[in-house]
Amino acid sequence: MKKELIFLGPPACGKGTQTDKLAKYFGFPHIDTGSLLRAEIASGSENGKVAKQYIDKGLLVPVWLVGAIIKSRLSQEDCKNGFILDGFPRSLEQAEILEQIKKDIDGDNQVDFRATYFEVDTEKLITRIVNRRSCPKCGEIYNLKTKPPKTEGKCDICGVELTQRKDDNEETAKARFDTYFNETSPLIDCYKNKNVLASIDADGTIDEVWERLLKVVE
Ligand code: ADP
Repeated sequence: MKKELIFLGPPACGKGTQTDKLAKYFGFPHIDTGSLLRAEIASGSENGKVAKQYIDKGLLVPVWLVGAIIKSRLSQEDCKNGFILDGFPRSLEQAEILEQIKKDIDGDNQVDFRATYFEVDTEKLITRIVNRRSCPKCGEIYNLKTKPPKTEGKCDICGVELTQRKDDNEETAKARFDTYFNETSPLIDCYKNKNVLASIDADGTIDEVWERLLKVVE
């Protein structure tokens, strides 16, 4: 049966790292709205210019823009057997849009739709955000404190200079947490009520969290 997996959790809770691993494990595409939006910005498109204004302030990009990106991405051939959706929905309004998109794409076919909530102590997350670096070429994520690259400032895999996301500064990070608590966290109850939510303890090493994740999505 087609597997449709979505993920909830505060900024920098480790969703990106785990869902990337999960996509490779299942052989499904990893659809990450943050990266799709950053690619849109890098392309210099009008939509990218709009998105940038919101991302830099730690706010949600307007729903017409993210909804269109997600609809076109989920309609592609490589999502036929399943997808890993990371970063959408991020509000109750987006959850309704996802329902609609799923109806359009899946029709009456039965699918295995599940939401996983990464439960984590948010106190530690701001430190995690300001220490986060990534490779602009392969997307590998590092942390200066807990997962530093072998050579300072360089990606272990491709040797390229690591970069810091523009929204990974303390001020924008705080705004992202406000957005998360106000707009995204109501989705936890929403999916709990639909009986499709599993919570995992996301405090732990990458390997520990991975084990917990596999138990709820397999
Ligand atoms: P994080 O989860 O660490 O905040 P992301 O890379 O997932 O990072 O998202 C970065 C930014 O992109 C968000 O702060 C928001 O501005 C924008 N964004 C990502 N996904 C969505 C979405 N579904 N709807 C609106 N804006 C989004």
